[in-house]
Amino acid sequence: MSFSTLGLSDPIQQAIAEMGYDAPTPIQEQAIPVVLNGRNLIAGAQTGTGKTASFALPILSMLDSQQKVRGKRIRALILTPTRELAVQVEKNIQQYSKYSNHSSLAIYGGVDSAAQKKRLIQGVDILVATPGRLLDMCTQKAIHFDELEVLVLDEADRMLDMGFIEDINKIIERLPLDRQNLLFSATLSKQVRALAKTAIANPVEVSVLADANAAPKIDQWLVTVDKDQKSALLSHLIKENDWQQALIFIETKHGAAKLVSQLEKRGIVAEAFHSGRSQAIREQVLQDFKSGELKLLVSTGVAARGIDIDNLERVVNYDLPYPADEYVHRIGRTGRAGASGEAISLVSKDNFKNLCMIESRLGHLITRKVIEGFEPRKEVPISILNYVPKNKPKPSAKKSNDKSPEVKLERGAGAKRRNPAPKRRPRRGAKPQGKPQGRSQASE
Ligand code: AMP
Repeated sequence: MSFSTLGLSDPIQQAIAEMGYDAPTPIQEQAIPVVLNGRNLIAGAQTGTGKTASFALPILSMLDSQQKVRGKRIRALILTPTRELAVQVEKNIQQYSKYSNHSSLAIYGGVDSAAQKKRLIQGVDILVATPGRLLDMCTQKAIHFDELEVLVLDEADRMLDMGFIEDINKIIERLPLDRQNLLFSATLSKQVRALAKTAIANPVEVSVLADANAAPKIDQWLVTVDKDQKSALLSHLIKENDWQQALIFIETKHGAAKLVSQLEKRGIVAEAFHSGRSQAIREQVLQDFKSGELKLLVSTGVAARGIDIDNLERVVNYDLPYPADEYVHRIGRTGRAGASGEAISLVSKDNFKNLCMIESRLGHLITRKVIEGFEPRKEVPISILNYVPKNKPKPSAKKSNDKSPEVKLERGAGAKRRNPAPKRRPRRGAKPQGKPQGRSQASE
């Protein structure tokens, strides 16, 4: 399939052709026709599958670029869990709208809000926002939603994990009922479906999660090692194998800083990336990592969400994540867009339960290695597949306490109201489309 058959507008097709997008990815093939049709959508797709374009391209195609947006108004709202993802998504939108003159803006916490507010007051076509900062702008009366046409909940599972449910509900309550709703999530868990049920009427459901799970191009292996030997083992692996790049996931901010200094003592340069560092430093560190100037980034899982690095060679789970889906997210950072990648986990005996859950989630055992000189004194038993824990470990997001400053840890409260089925407005510029075809797994 080629992009020309999907019904995207000419300026959008021109922009993506220049970016080297030859053919739509599976999620784009499935989602773009549904969105152009004005339908509500729930999509199972994780970062790396081309999910951003699968909502951004049809939204840009639908929004009439000749119509000038009024002050304080927005026409599409994309909610993201983290500021990094907000920045990334908005950057993609800028690239996609190179020939269509749509305006876009990302607003997020951790930076002074004055400039964001000033820009918002002029009105923007597409606003990408973290929930806390958006509510802040509502309180400051810097935004009106009466012209809003589309809402996107990006990485919905992550937003729920981070305790954003209350904020999302508060935002949805302010939006016009007559809007299109798109939800993207790396997992279509019960909680995600519950959110979808309250906010999204009669959605079409599409998914490429089976592909993501299979991750055939990612070489996954684990090393069993005693906990107190992990940093020495990591240094050994980096030096012995002359790693040119690795994104190293660790549980806590404190752990990240400690590991960076342990690596430094062994002559290895790395940088920590977490919400305890200023936004300016995080942006600089990320830029250095992307350019290849910085080879090793030690990041908490929450902070790393939304980092989009082309051809990331390797991810390392210094700590094993919880829940198991998080493991799938993390390894999905490598092996993107056809490139091969490597995912290595350092596993000690106290990680056994997590390992069982991850291998049960994958449906197979991960290849094990023992590195000479780092043989564990405490053996890690072989996992029981289909393992169901009696006491679940705490979610890593909560444990790490690594939140954007605007994040509130309010959990659990259900959505307050159900939207009636939206009566769709005909969209200017949207070409009529049939149901998704070809490889589509769309179901309604
Ligand atoms: P995402 O899943 O949105 O984070 O996208 C992952 C990466 O794939 C980004 O670097 C995109 O620019 C790239 N990408 C998205 N769609 C395509 C496509 N159809 N062809 C090639 N690259 C793409």
